[in-house]
Amino acid sequence: MPFMAEVDLNKVVRQHLEMEGFFTGFAVRGAIETPGDSPAKPTREPAIAPSKAKVDAANPQSAIRNPQSSSADAAGELAAIAAEAGQCRKCQLGSTRKKCVPGEGHPRARIMFVGEAPGADEDAQGRPFVGRAGQLLDKIIVACGLKREDVFIGNILKCRPPENREPRPDEIINCLPYLQRQIEAINPDIIVALGGHAAKTLLNTVKPIGQLRGQFQEYYGGIGRPPIKLMATFHPAYLLRNYSEQNRRYVWEDMKKVLAELGLPIPERKGSQT
Ligand code: URA
Repeated sequence: MPFMAEVDLNKVVRQHLEMEGFFTGFAVRGAIETPGDSPAKPTREPAIAPSKAKVDAANPQSAIRNPQSSSADAAGELAAIAAEAGQCRKCQLGSTRKKCVPGEGHPRARIMFVGEAPGADEDAQGRPFVGRAGQLLDKIIVACGLKREDVFIGNILKCRPPENREPRPDEIINCLPYLQRQIEAINPDIIVALGGHAAKTLLNTVKPIGQLRGQFQEYYGGIGRPPIKLMATFHPAYLLRNYSEQNRRYVWEDMKKVLAELGLPIPERKGSQT
């Protein structure tokens, strides 16, 4: 029915604008711009404690890098993983993909976002989260007072499932070692699992995302490796599909817990409750 279609479209546009508006306009009080800071530079910033770090007022970026790993080593390992994944034919997605999407970001990121799998836009560009969900993720990152280059963004699957269908167990089993090695190379302080697939896979649980989100969980990377804190939250695509003020608030609350745990300032939004 044309009338219904028109009503739905209006609703979708309004909700989308509300969502965009919410994650836009956050600012850290007294924040200092650091235009000269190049996230890719291989030199170390001043050492800080890896978690609950206090922000050095003269260099807020110092709290964003993980001082315990060497950029050069991690970058080399990430490049090797990306090259391997690019050649991977362990499952059929290796022959249906246009481009492999290994993930991207800072090799010493303290926050690592993990999504489900590339979609059409990511498959075309070979980069994670560049479609609509990615644009919302970018806004969330900026609302956190960070830049996309400050964090690492990856996925459970490195190749797009046709028609964006859900990842299959065999695909996850074949692909997961790439992500596990990326996590090991980066050694982030916190993993943010976006959506149920990422959270359940990394936590090895069948619990629904609604039960997993909102409190820190632990990711175990293997015997002898200390667990990494993991915050599960709703996937940006879910937020776009199931818009509600409550869902949007949940995501922002989850991200505020991540920032607090890292000792990073929590941006405030003028004139409205966050
Ligand atoms: N959704 C995901 O889970 N990952 C992407 O890279 C893009 C959309």
